[in-house]
Amino acid sequence: MKEKSDLPADTSHSVSASVSLPNVLSSTSSVDSAVAQRTDSTTENSLSVVTPSPAPFSDAALETLRDELIIPVTGVFSRELRDTFTEARGSNRVHDAIDIPAPRGTPVIAATPGRVLKLFTSKAGGLMVYAADSSERFILMYAHLDGYAPDLIDGAPLKRGQTIGSVGTTGNAPPNVPHLHFAIARSADISKWWQGAAVNPYTLLKNK
Ligand SMILES: [Zn+2]
Repeated sequence: MKEKSDLPADTSHSVSASVSLPNVLSSTSSVDSAVAQRTDSTTENSLSVVTPSPAPFSDAALETLRDELIIPVTGVFSRELRDTFTEARGSNRVHDAIDIPAPRGTPVIAATPGRVLKLFTSKAGGLMVYAADSSERFILMYAHLDGYAPDLIDGAPLKRGQTIGSVGTTGNAPPNVPHLHFAIARSADISKWWQGAAVNPYTLLKNK
């Protein structure tokens, strides 16, 4: 596969507890100012891990997520997925997500029922959707979208399989390698849609 070498610039999807948490919390008290602060950080489109490793959480919650979850790109089968969760992105960052290559314009679909938390744009992630799953314990993040589905707005309810956008290369994705960057994080407070403890989507999707 050439994907690995084609995606060296995909450095945005990083997670850094030590950097991002102070950025978000130290000098800001509102979401808006926190977002502004974030944009200047190196973790601007990540779901920032706030603990060094995922905190223990109920197997039941994870099993429910696993049961609900579908592959978020139309026409992609589990055998085509690659586990790039632990790959390095840059010198001191880890991917904490999977990349799902697909032709530009391929529908990106909601991987679980839930709701839109935030439509967000960053230099690195491009057009992004942050969404909550139905349990509101997990945040799902979709990045590098070519565009959003019409009428998609913050707070909108999502049905599993609903088209939310299309595969693209916005942000820092290589222009010749359209792909969906897909991340999942466990959250203690989904109003903080940019924070969570990363969960590997590959392990949840590999047997779908
Ligand atoms: Zn990625």
